[in-house]
Amino acid sequence: MKKILLLGSTGSIGINTLNVVRAFPDKFQITGLTANENIEELEKQIKEFSPSLAAVRDQQKANELQNKLNKTRIISGEEGLLEIIKEGNYDILVSAIVGFAGLKPIIEAIKLNKRIALANKETLVVAGKLITELSLKHKSQIIPIDSEHSAIFQCLVGEEKASINKLILTASGGPFLDRNNNELEKVTIDEALNHPNWKMGNKITIDSATMMNKGLEVIEAYWLFGLPKEKIEVIVHPQSVIHSMIEFIDGSIKAQLSTPDMKLPILYALSYPDRYNYNPVVTDLKKIQTLTFFEPDFDKFTCLKLAYSVIDSGDLAPCILNAANEVAVELFLNGKIRFLDIPNLIEEALNKHSMSGMADLESIVGCDLTIRNFLTRKFT
Ligand code: NAD
Ligand code: MG
Repeated sequence: MKKILLLGSTGSIGINTLNVVRAFPDKFQITGLTANENIEELEKQIKEFSPSLAAVRDQQKANELQNKLNKTRIISGEEGLLEIIKEGNYDILVSAIVGFAGLKPIIEAIKLNKRIALANKETLVVAGKLITELSLKHKSQIIPIDSEHSAIFQCLVGEEKASINKLILTASGGPFLDRNNNELEKVTIDEALNHPNWKMGNKITIDSATMMNKGLEVIEAYWLFGLPKEKIEVIVHPQSVIHSMIEFIDGSIKAQLSTPDMKLPILYALSYPDRYNYNPVVTDLKKIQTLTFFEPDFDKFTCLKLAYSVIDSGDLAPCILNAANEVAVELFLNGKIRFLDIPNLIEEALNKHSMSGMADLESIVGCDLTIRNFLTRKFT
C-alpha cells in the first residue's frame, strides 16, 4: 500500500489523481490533502478518503472545517502546507499546486527522500538546478505527471541517455493555432480558456493559448532529462494523441500514445516501475485515423521563443520569466490586459532585471517577489 500526500487536491490534476486512487483501494491510501480556496470540494474529499491531515490556506476556513470534521486534523497557512510535508506520513508526494507556491513544499519533501509525482512544472522552471541537485543528494525520485514528460520518461525505459539524439515534445498548439497576429490582438478571455483537447485549470489553459506552456515544458525537460536545449524540439501535433517522442542516435523514434487523459500519466507516476490494470481510458486508433505534425510559429508564439532564450541567459532568468508570466496571466484573466500584452510584459520584465546571480532558494524567492511587485505596481 503506497501512502499519498496530495497537494492541490481540488484542482484539475488533484481531482484526476483522486479518480485514479479511487480505482485502486488496495494499492493507494491518501494520508494528506491540501487546497487553497475550494473548501466545499475539500470537505467532500476528506469525508471520502479520511486523511489524517489536511491543510487549507485560510485560517478561518480551516477552523470552520475542523468544526465539521473530527477524524482529520486541519491546519492552515503556508506554515500548514510545510507542516504537512514535514510530518512525513507518505511515500509519494503528488504536487498538483499551480505556480510558484509549489516550490517550498517540494524542496521539503525531497529532503525527506520522498518520491515526487510532479505536475507543478513551474517549480522546475524557477529552481531546476536546485531541485535536481537536491533530489540527487537525497535520492528522491522525481516522476513527471506532465503528459509530454511522462511520455519521454516511459520511452526512456530500457534506454541509455547517451543513445538519445533529441527529445520531441508535442504541442496541441492551443485554441489559436490558426489565428494570425491581427486576430490575436482581439481574442477574449473565454476564447483563450477554450482549449481544444484538454480540460485543465485556468492558468495552464492560458499558458497553452500563448504556448508558454510548451516553453515551460522545454525548460522542465531540460532539467528532468539533462539535455541541452538544442536537443529539445517542439512539434505541433493538434490531435494530442502522441504525447511526446525520443529520436535515438540510430534514427529510430519511440513515441507514447493514448487518448488525451491525464489519468494515465498520473497513474504511471504512482505505479512506476509497475503498470496496473486500468481500463477507463480507451484509445481507438481507428477512430482517430489521422495524426499530423508541423513546425511551431515562433514569431506568432513569442512566449515559446522567450522560454527557449532564458535557458542559458542567467540562472535567475527562468524565475523572472515564470513570475512575469504568472502575473500577466492573472492580469489577463482579470480583464486588465490584452492577450498579446502577456509576452510583452514578460519581455519587459526580462529586459529590466538582472538575470545573473546565485539560484539558491533565498535568491529565487527574492527574484520572484521583485518581479511580482514590478508588474503589479504598473497596474494599480
Ligand atoms: P488548478 O488551478 O485546477 O488547481 C490548482 C490547485 O492548487 C488547487 O487545488 C488550488 O487549491 C491549489 N492552489 C493554488 N494556489 C495555491 C497556493 N498559493 N497555495 C496552495 N495551494 C494552491 O490547476 P491544474 O490545472 O490542476 O494544474 C496544477 C499544476 O499541474 C500546474 O502546475 C499545471 O501546469 C500542471 N499540469 C496540469 C495539467 C492539467 O491537465 N490540468 C497537465 C499538466 C500539468
Ligand atoms: Mg503538458
